[in-house]
Amino acid sequence: MTVPSVTLNDGNSIPQLGYGVFKVPPADTERAVAEALEVGYRHIDTAAIYGNEEGVGAAIAASGIARDDLFITTKLWNDRHHDEEPQAAIRESLDKLGLEKVDLYLVHWPTPAKDDYVHAWEKMVELRAAGLTRSIGVSNHLVPHLERIVEATGVVPAVNQIELHPAYQQREITDWAAANDVKIESWGPLGQGKYDLFDAEPVASAAAAHGKTPAQAVLRWHLQKGFIVFPKSVRRERLEENLDVFDFELTADEIAAIDAMDPGDGSGRVSAHPDEVN
Ligand code: NAD
Repeated sequence: MTVPSVTLNDGNSIPQLGYGVFKVPPADTERAVAEALEVGYRHIDTAAIYGNEEGVGAAIAASGIARDDLFITTKLWNDRHHDEEPQAAIRESLDKLGLEKVDLYLVHWPTPAKDDYVHAWEKMVELRAAGLTRSIGVSNHLVPHLERIVEATGVVPAVNQIELHPAYQQREITDWAAANDVKIESWGPLGQGKYDLFDAEPVASAAAAHGKTPAQAVLRWHLQKGFIVFPKSVRRERLEENLDVFDFELTADEIAAIDAMDPGDGSGRVSAHPDEVN
């Protein structure tokens, strides 16, 4: 199974599909990540706040896979934006992961009420220069946050990782990202199982037309939109299913029908709004 790569604005490349480990219990993480690596995943998305970086690191160490063949992302938590905390935080993450550098380090949330995301982004630029991460990006940043960090530093994030699935497509952010060469990573790509995505007609009929599951049709929609995805599951058969999405293509009409699933008023959001997280 060859997963295509996407080239980031700093010249580095990232596998377009990976495995996300939000809510994978720490005690189960080594097993789950080991299975994901066995099945063929090479891109893992974790975060300091998930509490499972050690399990990710243990699976990487036991896998015998060459470091250059893996793409590992982790994230700076909200209470560590200030002073020199980002440097301390990435060193702790690297220690847990057993790595000398990560491939991508993200500011997890902008926490706008604290007004420290510009400082955090300045520190991210330093962490990249110090060789602790190959690429830097942000997560959950709205257009005004993105504009402000770019204005302050001149450095455009490689990615913005945001909640994105058919009922919540965040077009203002995706348009800004396309215009500024920022790749979008869709978190909650399957809607976190929080609404009836798989029975929705555009998804169910696209899946049936290609002899694929609804989850595979939705993942294919993300990929064909150019988004990077890392669906989460702890079940081997679903890990396999979610990777098996490179032998079919949705038609333009099928894509358009899924595009039309977003009511456009923000009501499809299933998780926290960035302004609420501080
Ligand atoms: P998701 O949309 O990937 O949904 C995961 C749920 O979907 C699983 O619990 C499982 O029940 C179900 N599922 C997975 N594969 C399936 C299949 N083939 N068929 C049927 N059901 C299936 O949601 P997520 O885990 O929140 O998002 C994916 C990743 O995004 C996370 O693991 C994490 O790495 C990242 N994330 C980032 C943020 C952020 O703030 N940056 C927030 C949430 C998640």
